[in-house]
Amino acid sequence: MYELARSIRTIADYPKPGILFRDITTLLGDARAFRRAVDELVQPLAGTKIDKVAGIEARGFILGGAVAHQLSAGFVPVRKKGKLPHTTVRIAYSLEYGVDEMEMHQDAVQPGERVVLVDDLIATGGTAVGAVQLLRKLGADVAAAIFVIDLPDLGGAKKLAELDVQVRSLMA
Ligand code: 5GP
Repeated sequence: MYELARSIRTIADYPKPGILFRDITTLLGDARAFRRAVDELVQPLAGTKIDKVAGIEARGFILGGAVAHQLSAGFVPVRKKGKLPHTTVRIAYSLEYGVDEMEMHQDAVQPGERVVLVDDLIATGGTAVGAVQLLRKLGADVAAAIFVIDLPDLGGAKKLAELDVQVRSLMA
């Protein structure tokens, strides 16, 4: 098995019966695996100009901070509604069952800035598609969306590709 995949554990019936939850806290806690994941995520972006990294709450903050540091870019958070203190832009996005809303600070990204979106995992793509739409509302040029895990059967990466976003993930 791919070495990085071994650093991730799968928890059955979390958060609900029937769900196999991919737990990346074990990857984050393993110094070698964490470094390798971040190095592999940024490698295709080497030499391209990236202004900001946008991390999706909450595990996207941890990966996104490290990715931003590697790329010498700023970090901006995409948060669940009601968590950001200054003026925000908000968007509704689809969850597996129902909808929710996410927000960014209105001044987090300037029009034309090149932004990389980061999260730990893409499944149905509802969360990442919402974040791309929010970034584009702010005028960002979404250069890529990067994930540690893609669950391809759920179609999220395909939805992002249909929005002309370059998608990269380290494992399925
Ligand atoms: P989607 O919107 O693509 O259906 O779900 C992706 C979002 O849900 C991401 O923000 C991700 O953190 C979270 N998520 C869904 N399933 C899992 C999982 O099995 N493991 C982890 N770590 N996150 C998950």
